[in-house]
Amino acid sequence: MKKKLGLVMALLLAMTCFLAGCGGKQAEKTVANSAAQGNEQAASMTVKMLNVGQGDAVLVQTREQTVLIDTSDLDEQEKLRAELKKAGVKRIDKLILTHPHADHIGGVEGVVLKDYEVGEVYDNGMPSKSKIYTRYMKLLKQKNIKRHGLVAGEELDFGDGVKFKVFAPAKEIVDKGSKTTEGHDPNNESVVGKLIFGEFTMMFTGDAEKTEEEPIVKAYGGELQSKILKAGHHGSKTSSSADFLRAVAPEAALISCGAGNDYGHPHTQTMKKFHSMKLKIYETDKNGTITVTTDGKTYDIVPETGGAQ
Ligand SMILES: [Zn+2]
Repeated sequence: MKKKLGLVMALLLAMTCFLAGCGGKQAEKTVANSAAQGNEQAASMTVKMLNVGQGDAVLVQTREQTVLIDTSDLDEQEKLRAELKKAGVKRIDKLILTHPHADHIGGVEGVVLKDYEVGEVYDNGMPSKSKIYTRYMKLLKQKNIKRHGLVAGEELDFGDGVKFKVFAPAKEIVDKGSKTTEGHDPNNESVVGKLIFGEFTMMFTGDAEKTEEEPIVKAYGGELQSKILKAGHHGSKTSSSADFLRAVAPEAALISCGAGNDYGHPHTQTMKKFHSMKLKIYETDKNGTITVTTDGKTYDIVPETGGAQ
């Protein structure tokens, strides 16, 4: 009886399959689709503009890697240490240093290389005579950490389908500048690049000013569009030029700056431009650490305190 029932069931199943047309290929396709959907639903990335006073430090966490872009200033090290701890960072797979000014590489020695295992380091390939830079280079050698100078056109893989496309510094600038400590304009040699995860995009600018923005717009205009802009040079009026903003066409701008800083960052002129574009603006001095979460389709910006400026 049991055998007969089994046979009937098998026949019924075969007939259902025949009628529904569930051939091998279609079955495969269904499995592939559901796997892709499952991945998309679970995929997520967090970008935190850390509240580290007058400097920059942005933490990017994908499901596979932890990436830190800049490390704020020497006298902001305790803030950086606390923020990385709060974010639950265990290891830094990639450290990107946009340019060798103290407010970007200040936390490398005392916090990042001291407290964490670091996979690889990327900078703009430009040497500096500063003590902080000299110690940074020495430490990388001692710890046997690979360093790579980024050049426009390169792309970094942050895992889980997340990419970082580099737009600057341009090859000519690196070729000339990487051989000498003389004649540098560090802000305008900043690493500029776009974080890409599905439909989510965010532009990172370091301290790039109009001087660096202009050639980027000329070379990459159509590729610059990004949902979020990390405002260049802490919201300085020397950055965020009209042409660059038009090309990036962001929906929101994030600014890293210290409360009551000596430079008056962010400058009123920049804020006016952002407001006229109806951007959502967040500042670390007023909003604390600013967290962006995304599934590669939509995104949320959650400030630690307060709302958009
Ligand atoms: Zn800076």
